[in-house]
Amino acid sequence: MATIKPQWANAKRIVVKIGTSLLADKKTGALNRAWLAALVDDVAALKAKGKQVILVSSGAIALGRKALELPSGPLKLEDSQAAAAVGQIALAHAYEEAFKAAELVAAQILLTLGDTEQRRRYLNARSTMETLLRAGAVPVVNENDTVATNEIRYGDNDRLAARVASMMSADCLVLLSDVDGFYTSEPGRDAGAQLIREVTEITPEIEAMAGDTGAELSRGGMVTKIEAAKIAMAAGAHMVIASGKADNPLARIGGEAPCSWFLAHTNPRAARKRWIAGALEPRGAVVIDDGAAAALKSGKSLLPAGVSLVEGTFERGDAIVIRDSNGHELGRGLSAYSDRDAQAIIGHKSSEISRLLGYRGRDELIHRDDMALKQGADKDE
Ligand code: GLU
Repeated sequence: MATIKPQWANAKRIVVKIGTSLLADKKTGALNRAWLAALVDDVAALKAKGKQVILVSSGAIALGRKALELPSGPLKLEDSQAAAAVGQIALAHAYEEAFKAAELVAAQILLTLGDTEQRRRYLNARSTMETLLRAGAVPVVNENDTVATNEIRYGDNDRLAARVASMMSADCLVLLSDVDGFYTSEPGRDAGAQLIREVTEITPEIEAMAGDTGAELSRGGMVTKIEAAKIAMAAGAHMVIASGKADNPLARIGGEAPCSWFLAHTNPRAARKRWIAGALEPRGAVVIDDGAAAALKSGKSLLPAGVSLVEGTFERGDAIVIRDSNGHELGRGLSAYSDRDAQAIIGHKSSEISRLLGYRGRDELIHRDDMALKQGADKDE
Protein backbone atom coordinates (compact mmCIF):
# COMPACT_ATOMS: atom_id res chain seq x y z
CA MET A 1 0.00 0.00 0.00
CA ALA A 2 1.48 3.30 -1.08
CA THR A 3 1.94 5.94 1.57
CA ILE A 4 -0.29 8.94 1.03
CA LYS A 5 1.47 12.27 0.94
CA PRO A 6 0.59 14.12 4.17
CA GLN A 7 -0.03 17.36 2.26
CA TRP A 8 -2.82 15.54 0.45
CA ALA A 9 -4.07 13.43 3.35
CA ASN A 10 -4.38 16.48 5.60
CA ALA A 11 -5.85 18.90 3.06
CA LYS A 12 -9.25 20.11 4.18
CA ARG A 13 -10.10 22.45 1.36
CA ILE A 14 -9.09 21.47 -2.16
CA VAL A 15 -9.39 23.39 -5.43
CA VAL A 16 -9.33 21.23 -8.57
CA LYS A 17 -8.75 22.74 -12.00
CA ILE A 18 -10.10 20.73 -14.91
CA GLY A 19 -8.63 21.43 -18.32
CA THR A 20 -10.63 21.54 -21.54
CA SER A 21 -8.74 18.61 -23.04
CA LEU A 22 -10.16 16.32 -20.36
CA LEU A 23 -13.76 17.37 -20.64
CA ALA A 24 -14.23 17.83 -24.35
CA ASP A 25 -13.20 15.43 -27.08
CA LYS A 26 -10.42 17.01 -29.12
CA LYS A 27 -11.87 16.13 -32.50
CA THR A 28 -15.61 16.32 -32.02
CA GLY A 29 -15.75 18.76 -29.07
CA ALA A 30 -18.32 16.45 -27.45
CA LEU A 31 -18.50 16.34 -23.66
CA ASN A 32 -16.85 13.33 -22.04
CA ARG A 33 -19.70 12.35 -19.71
CA ALA A 34 -18.25 9.06 -18.47
CA TRP A 35 -15.07 10.82 -17.38
CA LEU A 36 -17.08 13.53 -15.64
CA ALA A 37 -19.16 10.94 -13.77
CA ALA A 38 -15.95 9.27 -12.52
CA LEU A 39 -14.55 12.64 -11.44
CA VAL A 40 -17.74 13.34 -9.51
CA ASP A 41 -17.26 9.98 -7.73
CA ASP A 42 -13.79 11.17 -6.71
CA VAL A 43 -15.21 14.45 -5.41
CA ALA A 44 -17.93 12.57 -3.51
CA ALA A 45 -15.27 10.32 -1.94
CA LEU A 46 -13.26 13.36 -0.80
CA LYS A 47 -16.37 14.98 0.61
CA ALA A 48 -17.24 11.78 2.45
CA LYS A 49 -13.87 12.16 4.21
CA GLY A 50 -14.95 15.61 5.38
CA LYS A 51 -13.03 17.61 2.78
CA GLN A 52 -14.40 20.59 0.89
CA VAL A 53 -13.91 20.68 -2.86
CA ILE A 54 -14.11 23.59 -5.30
CA LEU A 55 -13.83 22.90 -9.02
CA VAL A 56 -12.48 25.36 -11.56
CA SER A 57 -13.62 24.06 -14.91
CA SER A 58 -12.67 25.05 -18.42
CA GLY A 59 -14.55 23.76 -21.42
CA ALA A 60 -17.09 26.49 -22.15
CA ILE A 61 -15.37 27.72 -25.29
CA ALA A 62 -14.79 24.21 -26.65
CA LEU A 63 -18.42 23.18 -26.10
CA GLY A 64 -19.81 26.41 -27.53
CA ARG A 65 -17.56 26.24 -30.51
CA LYS A 66 -19.04 22.88 -31.40
CA ALA A 67 -22.61 24.12 -30.98
CA LEU A 68 -21.97 27.22 -33.09
CA GLU A 69 -19.98 25.20 -35.65
CA LEU A 70 -17.10 27.65 -35.56
CA PRO A 71 -14.01 26.76 -37.62
CA SER A 72 -11.04 25.05 -35.98
CA GLY A 73 -7.90 27.01 -35.14
CA PRO A 74 -7.49 30.06 -32.91
CA LEU A 75 -10.66 32.09 -32.43
CA LYS A 76 -11.03 35.85 -32.49
CA LEU A 77 -11.81 37.28 -29.05
CA GLU A 78 -15.48 37.97 -29.89
CA ASP A 79 -15.89 34.46 -31.32
CA SER A 80 -14.46 32.83 -28.22
CA GLN A 81 -16.68 35.04 -26.05
CA ALA A 82 -19.73 34.06 -28.09
CA ALA A 83 -18.70 30.41 -27.88
CA ALA A 84 -18.31 30.72 -24.10
CA ALA A 85 -21.82 32.20 -23.81
CA VAL A 86 -23.23 29.09 -25.47
CA GLY A 87 -20.88 26.53 -23.98
CA GLN A 88 -21.14 27.69 -20.37
CA ILE A 89 -24.81 26.65 -20.27
CA ALA A 90 -23.96 23.17 -21.45
CA LEU A 91 -21.03 22.97 -19.05
CA ALA A 92 -23.10 24.04 -16.04
CA HIS A 93 -25.85 21.64 -17.03
CA ALA A 94 -23.40 18.75 -17.32
CA TYR A 95 -22.06 19.44 -13.83
CA GLU A 96 -25.52 19.80 -12.40
CA GLU A 97 -26.59 16.44 -13.81
CA ALA A 98 -23.38 14.64 -12.87
CA PHE A 99 -23.48 15.89 -9.27
CA LYS A 100 -27.19 15.22 -8.96
CA ALA A 101 -26.53 11.58 -9.85
CA ALA A 102 -24.18 11.45 -6.84
CA GLU A 103 -26.76 13.27 -4.69
CA LEU A 104 -24.64 16.40 -4.55
CA VAL A 105 -25.46 19.99 -5.43
CA ALA A 106 -23.31 21.94 -7.89
CA ALA A 107 -23.17 25.76 -7.86
CA GLN A 108 -21.98 27.85 -10.80
CA ILE A 109 -19.65 30.79 -10.10
CA LEU A 110 -18.38 32.95 -12.95
CA LEU A 111 -15.52 35.24 -11.98
CA THR A 112 -13.56 37.98 -13.67
CA LEU A 113 -10.07 39.11 -12.77
CA GLY A 114 -11.55 42.05 -10.88
CA ASP A 115 -13.59 39.75 -8.66
CA THR A 116 -10.47 38.17 -7.25
CA GLU A 117 -8.35 41.31 -7.16
CA GLN A 118 -10.62 44.10 -6.05
CA ARG A 119 -11.04 44.02 -2.33
CA ARG A 120 -14.75 44.70 -2.14
CA ARG A 121 -15.81 42.02 -4.57
CA TYR A 122 -13.18 39.71 -3.19
CA LEU A 123 -14.92 39.71 0.15
CA ASN A 124 -18.25 39.01 -1.55
CA ALA A 125 -17.02 36.17 -3.74
CA ARG A 126 -15.28 34.63 -0.75
CA SER A 127 -18.28 34.75 1.54
CA THR A 128 -20.62 33.41 -1.14
CA MET A 129 -18.33 30.46 -1.69
CA GLU A 130 -17.95 29.93 2.08
CA THR A 131 -21.73 29.82 2.35
CA LEU A 132 -21.97 27.28 -0.46
CA LEU A 133 -19.28 25.08 1.09
CA ARG A 134 -20.96 25.23 4.49
CA ALA A 135 -24.19 24.13 2.85
CA GLY A 136 -22.37 21.14 1.33
CA ALA A 137 -22.53 22.33 -2.30
CA VAL A 138 -19.68 22.01 -4.79
CA PRO A 139 -18.82 25.38 -6.38
CA VAL A 140 -17.89 25.06 -10.05
CA VAL A 141 -15.95 28.14 -11.11
CA ASN A 142 -15.04 29.43 -14.56
CA GLU A 143 -13.95 32.75 -15.88
CA ASN A 144 -16.83 34.95 -17.00
CA ASP A 145 -15.42 34.86 -20.53
CA THR A 146 -18.39 36.59 -22.10
CA VAL A 147 -17.86 39.90 -20.34
CA ALA A 148 -14.12 39.82 -19.66
CA THR A 149 -12.20 41.95 -22.13
CA ASN A 150 -8.63 41.43 -23.20
CA GLU A 151 -7.16 43.67 -20.53
CA ILE A 152 -9.13 42.25 -17.65
CA ARG A 153 -9.21 38.59 -18.42
CA TYR A 154 -7.15 35.75 -17.06
CA GLY A 155 -7.42 33.86 -20.31
CA ASP A 156 -6.24 30.70 -18.62
CA ASN A 157 -7.81 28.77 -15.82
CA ASP A 158 -4.49 27.77 -14.23
CA ARG A 159 -4.03 31.22 -12.75
CA LEU A 160 -7.74 31.65 -12.10
CA ALA A 161 -7.69 28.39 -10.10
CA ALA A 162 -4.64 29.59 -8.14
CA ARG A 163 -6.40 32.87 -7.31
CA VAL A 164 -9.47 30.95 -6.20
CA ALA A 165 -7.25 28.74 -3.99
CA SER A 166 -5.68 31.87 -2.50
CA MET A 167 -9.00 33.68 -2.08
CA MET A 168 -10.56 30.66 -0.38
CA SER A 169 -7.53 29.80 1.80
CA ALA A 170 -7.40 26.32 0.25
CA ASP A 171 -4.73 23.89 1.43
CA CYS A 172 -4.26 22.22 -1.94
CA LEU A 173 -4.63 23.13 -5.59
CA VAL A 174 -4.78 20.31 -8.14
CA LEU A 175 -4.20 21.10 -11.81
CA LEU A 176 -5.59 18.24 -13.84
CA SER A 177 -4.51 18.30 -17.46
CA ASP A 178 -3.27 16.04 -20.24
CA VAL A 179 0.29 15.94 -18.92
CA ASP A 180 1.23 13.98 -15.83
CA GLY A 181 3.46 16.58 -14.26
CA PHE A 182 6.28 19.03 -14.68
CA TYR A 183 9.21 17.81 -16.78
CA THR A 184 12.77 19.07 -17.12
CA SER A 185 12.04 19.50 -20.85
CA GLU A 186 9.27 18.58 -23.25
CA PRO A 187 8.75 14.80 -23.00
CA GLY A 188 7.44 14.50 -26.56
CA ARG A 189 10.58 16.06 -28.02
CA ASP A 190 13.29 15.06 -25.58
CA ALA A 191 13.68 11.40 -24.64
CA GLY A 192 15.78 12.46 -21.63
CA ALA A 193 12.99 14.59 -20.16
CA GLN A 194 12.49 13.80 -16.48
CA LEU A 195 9.46 14.27 -14.29
CA ILE A 196 10.18 16.50 -11.29
CA ARG A 197 8.25 15.02 -8.38
CA GLU A 198 8.73 17.80 -5.89
CA VAL A 199 9.46 21.49 -6.15
CA THR A 200 9.98 23.52 -2.98
CA GLU A 201 11.03 26.77 -4.62
CA ILE A 202 10.37 28.36 -8.00
CA THR A 203 13.97 28.99 -9.05
CA PRO A 204 15.08 30.62 -12.32
CA GLU A 205 15.97 27.08 -13.49
CA ILE A 206 12.40 25.92 -12.94
CA GLU A 207 11.07 28.94 -14.82
CA ALA A 208 13.45 28.24 -17.67
CA MET A 209 12.25 24.63 -17.86
CA ALA A 210 8.64 25.82 -18.01
CA GLY A 211 9.54 27.94 -21.01
CA ASP A 212 10.57 24.80 -22.86
CA THR A 213 7.47 22.78 -22.20
CA GLY A 214 4.47 24.40 -23.82
CA ALA A 215 3.00 20.92 -23.98
CA GLU A 216 -0.68 21.25 -23.41
CA LEU A 217 -2.94 21.85 -26.36
CA SER A 218 -5.43 24.14 -24.70
CA ARG A 219 -4.26 27.50 -23.39
CA GLY A 220 -2.28 27.15 -20.20
CA GLY A 221 0.97 25.33 -20.87
CA MET A 222 3.66 25.04 -18.24
CA VAL A 223 4.34 28.78 -18.04
CA THR A 224 0.88 29.51 -16.64
CA LYS A 225 1.19 26.46 -14.37
CA ILE A 226 4.37 27.89 -12.85
CA GLU A 227 2.61 31.26 -12.47
CA ALA A 228 -0.20 29.39 -10.72
CA ALA A 229 2.34 27.65 -8.45
CA LYS A 230 3.76 31.02 -7.39
CA ILE A 231 0.31 32.37 -6.50
CA ALA A 232 -0.67 29.17 -4.66
CA MET A 233 2.60 28.79 -2.74
CA ALA A 234 2.54 32.44 -1.63
CA ALA A 235 -0.98 31.83 -0.32
CA GLY A 236 0.15 28.76 1.63
CA ALA A 237 -1.46 26.21 -0.71
CA HIS A 238 0.42 23.19 -2.02
CA MET A 239 -0.07 22.65 -5.73
CA VAL A 240 0.04 19.43 -7.70
CA ILE A 241 0.09 18.94 -11.46
CA ALA A 242 -1.34 15.57 -12.40
CA SER A 243 -2.78 13.85 -15.40
CA GLY A 244 -6.52 13.68 -15.55
CA LYS A 245 -6.55 11.40 -18.56
CA ALA A 246 -7.35 8.19 -16.72
CA ASP A 247 -10.68 7.91 -14.95
CA ASN A 248 -10.78 8.78 -11.22
CA PRO A 249 -7.72 11.07 -11.34
CA LEU A 250 -8.24 12.46 -7.84
CA ALA A 251 -8.23 9.01 -6.27
CA ARG A 252 -4.73 8.51 -7.69
CA ILE A 253 -3.22 11.65 -6.21
CA GLY A 254 -1.11 11.38 -3.10
CA GLY A 255 0.09 7.85 -3.90
CA GLU A 256 2.62 6.50 -6.36
CA ALA A 257 1.04 7.83 -9.56
CA PRO A 258 3.34 10.25 -11.41
CA CYS A 259 2.66 13.88 -10.57
CA SER A 260 4.55 17.00 -9.55
CA TRP A 261 4.10 18.66 -6.19
CA PHE A 262 4.89 22.30 -5.51
CA LEU A 263 5.13 22.58 -1.76
CA ALA A 264 4.25 25.77 0.10
CA HIS A 265 6.35 26.88 3.07
CA THR A 266 3.49 28.46 4.94
CA ASN A 267 -0.15 27.65 5.59
CA PRO A 268 -3.19 29.51 4.19
CA ARG A 269 -4.13 31.07 7.52
CA ALA A 270 -0.67 32.51 8.18
CA ALA A 271 -0.35 33.68 4.56
CA ARG A 272 -3.70 35.47 4.71
CA LYS A 273 -2.80 37.16 8.00
CA ARG A 274 0.50 38.34 6.57
CA TRP A 275 -1.33 39.72 3.53
CA ILE A 276 -3.81 41.61 5.70
CA ALA A 277 -1.11 42.87 8.09
CA GLY A 278 1.42 43.91 5.51
CA ALA A 279 0.35 44.09 1.91
CA LEU A 280 -2.71 46.29 2.15
CA GLU A 281 -2.70 50.05 2.66
CA PRO A 282 -5.12 50.82 5.53
CA ARG A 283 -7.85 53.30 4.59
CA GLY A 284 -9.13 54.08 8.04
CA ALA A 285 -9.30 52.95 11.63
CA VAL A 286 -11.66 51.92 14.41
CA VAL A 287 -11.15 52.55 18.11
CA ILE A 288 -12.53 49.75 20.26
CA ASP A 289 -13.41 49.48 23.95
CA ASP A 290 -11.55 47.32 26.49
CA GLY A 291 -14.14 44.55 26.42
CA ALA A 292 -13.84 44.21 22.65
CA ALA A 293 -10.03 44.29 22.88
CA ALA A 294 -10.11 41.40 25.35
CA ALA A 295 -12.53 39.51 23.08
CA LEU A 296 -10.21 39.97 20.08
CA LYS A 297 -7.23 38.68 22.06
CA SER A 298 -9.20 35.56 22.96
CA GLY A 299 -9.83 34.84 19.28
CA LYS A 300 -13.20 36.49 18.67
CA SER A 301 -14.43 38.70 15.83
CA LEU A 302 -14.99 42.46 16.20
CA LEU A 303 -18.67 43.30 16.64
CA PRO A 304 -20.08 46.80 16.02
CA ALA A 305 -21.11 46.99 19.70
CA GLY A 306 -17.47 47.15 20.83
CA VAL A 307 -16.45 50.03 18.56
CA SER A 308 -16.44 53.59 19.89
CA LEU A 309 -14.99 55.55 16.96
CA VAL A 310 -14.61 55.23 13.18
CA GLU A 311 -11.94 57.22 11.30
CA GLY A 312 -11.14 57.63 7.61
CA THR A 313 -12.98 56.88 4.39
CA PHE A 314 -13.21 53.25 3.36
CA GLU A 315 -15.36 50.76 1.52
CA ARG A 316 -16.47 47.28 2.42
CA GLY A 317 -13.44 45.02 2.05
CA ASP A 318 -10.82 47.72 2.65
CA ALA A 319 -8.12 47.19 5.25
CA ILE A 320 -8.44 49.29 8.41
CA VAL A 321 -6.41 49.63 11.61
CA ILE A 322 -7.86 48.48 14.94
CA ARG A 323 -6.84 50.65 17.93
CA ASP A 324 -7.46 50.27 21.64
CA SER A 325 -8.88 53.07 23.78
CA ASN A 326 -5.33 54.42 24.33
CA GLY A 327 -4.75 54.72 20.61
CA HIS A 328 -2.38 51.73 20.37
CA GLU A 329 -2.61 49.62 17.22
CA LEU A 330 -3.92 46.15 18.07
CA GLY A 331 -3.97 44.89 14.51
CA ARG A 332 -5.61 45.27 11.14
CA GLY A 333 -8.54 43.76 9.34
CA LEU A 334 -10.85 43.92 6.36
CA SER A 335 -13.96 45.90 7.21
CA ALA A 336 -17.27 44.27 6.33
CA TYR A 337 -18.83 47.76 6.15
CA SER A 338 -17.99 51.12 4.61
CA ASP A 339 -17.07 53.94 7.00
CA ARG A 340 -20.58 55.42 6.56
CA ASP A 341 -22.36 52.22 7.44
CA ALA A 342 -19.87 51.53 10.24
CA GLN A 343 -20.65 54.97 11.75
CA ALA A 344 -24.33 54.07 11.78
CA ILE A 345 -23.97 50.72 13.54
CA ILE A 346 -21.14 51.20 16.07
CA GLY A 347 -22.23 50.83 19.65
CA HIS A 348 -25.23 48.78 18.55
CA LYS A 349 -26.09 45.13 18.77
CA SER A 350 -25.66 43.13 15.56
CA SER A 351 -29.37 42.27 15.67
CA GLU A 352 -30.09 45.98 15.06
CA ILE A 353 -28.00 46.21 11.87
CA SER A 354 -30.83 45.58 9.45
CA ARG A 355 -33.06 48.21 11.12
CA LEU A 356 -30.23 50.76 11.13
CA LEU A 357 -28.99 50.20 7.58
CA GLY A 358 -32.01 48.87 5.76
CA TYR A 359 -30.20 45.68 4.79
CA ARG A 360 -28.90 42.65 6.62
CA GLY A 361 -25.11 42.67 6.43
CA ARG A 362 -22.63 40.68 8.43
CA ASP A 363 -22.94 40.44 12.22
CA GLU A 364 -19.25 41.27 12.55
CA LEU A 365 -17.60 44.56 11.63
CA ILE A 366 -14.37 42.61 11.10
CA HIS A 367 -14.59 38.84 10.95
CA ARG A 368 -11.91 36.82 12.72
CA ASP A 369 -10.74 35.31 9.42
CA ASP A 370 -10.23 38.80 8.01
CA MET A 371 -8.11 40.06 10.91
CA ALA A 372 -4.41 40.04 11.79
CA LEU A 373 -3.50 41.11 15.33
CA LYS A 374 -0.07 42.43 16.23
CA GLN A 375 2.59 39.95 17.36
CA GLY A 376 1.87 38.52 20.75
CA ALA A 377 -1.80 39.53 20.69
CA ASP A 378 -2.93 36.93 18.17
CA LYS A 379 -4.22 33.70 19.60
CA ASP A 380 -3.87 32.05 16.16
CA GLU A 381 -0.13 32.60 15.87
N1 GLU B 1 -12.45 29.78 -19.56
C1 GLU B 1 -12.14 29.00 -20.73
C2 GLU B 1 -13.28 28.05 -21.06
O1 GLU B 1 -14.06 27.72 -20.25
C3 GLU B 1 -10.91 28.15 -20.57
C4 GLU B 1 -9.60 28.80 -20.33
C5 GLU B 1 -8.50 27.72 -20.23
O2 GLU B 1 -8.51 26.77 -21.00
O3 GLU B 1 -7.65 27.80 -19.36
O4 GLU B 1 -13.38 27.57 -22.16
